[in-house]
Amino acid sequence: MTPIHTIADLRRALEAERRSGRTIGLVPTMGSLHRGHMTLVDRARAACEIVVVSIFVNPTQFGPGEDLATYPRDLDADLAECRAHGVDVVFAPGVEEIYPEPLATEIDVAPLSTILIGVERPGHFQGVATVVAKLFNIVGPTHAFFGEKDYQQLTVIRRMVRDLSYGIAITGVPTVREEDGLACSSRNQKLVPEDRAAAAVIAKALGEAERLIAAGVRDPGAIVAAVERTIAVEARADIRSVDLRDAETLAMVETIGETPVVVLVTVRFGDVLLIDQRTVAAAPSAKRPAKGETP
Ligand code: AMP
Repeated sequence: MTPIHTIADLRRALEAERRSGRTIGLVPTMGSLHRGHMTLVDRARAACEIVVVSIFVNPTQFGPGEDLATYPRDLDADLAECRAHGVDVVFAPGVEEIYPEPLATEIDVAPLSTILIGVERPGHFQGVATVVAKLFNIVGPTHAFFGEKDYQQLTVIRRMVRDLSYGIAITGVPTVREEDGLACSSRNQKLVPEDRAAAAVIAKALGEAERLIAAGVRDPGAIVAAVERTIAVEARADIRSVDLRDAETLAMVETIGETPVVVLVTVRFGDVLLIDQRTVAAAPSAKRPAKGETP
């Protein structure tokens, strides 16, 4: 398995597979692959006949002053991981290949792209949706795999696929974590040791949110406050946002009811921005009347 760098070569490599109707699973990544990515790959391997991993640090999803230049890159190590996990094709194009000229077309899954992380990172989700649409058109997958860790991204992609009738089965994969609960992320390696140790507080706070909801707390404000309080115990943590939203639509929630909610957290440690989430299916708040019983 050698990496493919051009769109033409990629299309050629997959032509026979597509013609014979094989299932093709795509795992889009920005490389620097870790256990989280490889879990997506394993899911794709189990579900599809052909597995394609794309490795592309997409410049259009980074804002000015963000970490595009310092984003970790290690293609050789990524290829070794992909080989070890039975990947059939690695597509690793250069920026010129994907953007030979500035695009005149952009995919904007508004209003999902302008809320939550989209407020702090304007243009980010437009960059993500547009590059994923391009990857879908280039690879032509039957299935694609995304992490729940980037929950808003997954929601944007699901909506784009629905709106544009892509006919690609999207699988969201639960977040893979380090032993102390910190979500695996390429950015974790940029944390200084003190921040790395402190960052475990994020998962702890999400666990607290889950516990409170299970215990019957129905006020989103109380959950958000509890998460903020738990994280604030760590002086090194700079809380950027804590939100509780409807898990499917990301709409605001007035009372936590019987539909699942998601708690979304963004915390900065030094100059490293970490995100995490926890979906919680709230327990029914009241005993339903049994058949024949008057409420
Ligand atoms: P990235 O390389 O950060 O763009 O991530 C590529 C894909 O891997 C995205 O769909 C991410 O949501 C997913 N991913 C990243 N970290 C994790 C993790 N810890 N657990 C599960 N999926 C992840």
